[in-house]
Amino acid sequence: MIRIPKTIYDEIISYTNSKLPNEACGILAGINNLVKKIYKMRNVEESPESYLMDPHEQIRVMKDIRENNMKMLAIFHSHPKTPARPSAKDINMAFYDDVFYIIVSFMNKIPDVKAFKIIGKSVTLEKILIED
Ligand SMILES: [Zn+2]
Repeated sequence: MIRIPKTIYDEIISYTNSKLPNEACGILAGINNLVKKIYKMRNVEESPESYLMDPHEQIRVMKDIRENNMKMLAIFHSHPKTPARPSAKDINMAFYDDVFYIIVSFMNKIPDVKAFKIIGKSVTLEKILIED
């Protein structure tokens, strides 16, 4: 289970929505599965079907997370036209066993947000708790 404050949850949706029709991505950091900070990342592929973070931006963010005594808790990205579940590529690119993968789907009118753990090829749906 990952706990996300409502303000950050809303920011995930508004940021990914602002990047439509392309996929958008970002990182959530915090402690004890409670998200404290959102990093809105650039999708260098600028594609409606995939995303890739800028490695340099990613290094800067990881440094900021460490310096603030947090951990990377989740990587989020959007699916503009497909359901909120990891694609074959998402599964192949999921290198972190202890990180939540959050997908925001804009396939329907109301955004669908789901969290997963991806270990090897095994995908598990995880609970998102939105906190005030
Ligand atoms: Zn994806």
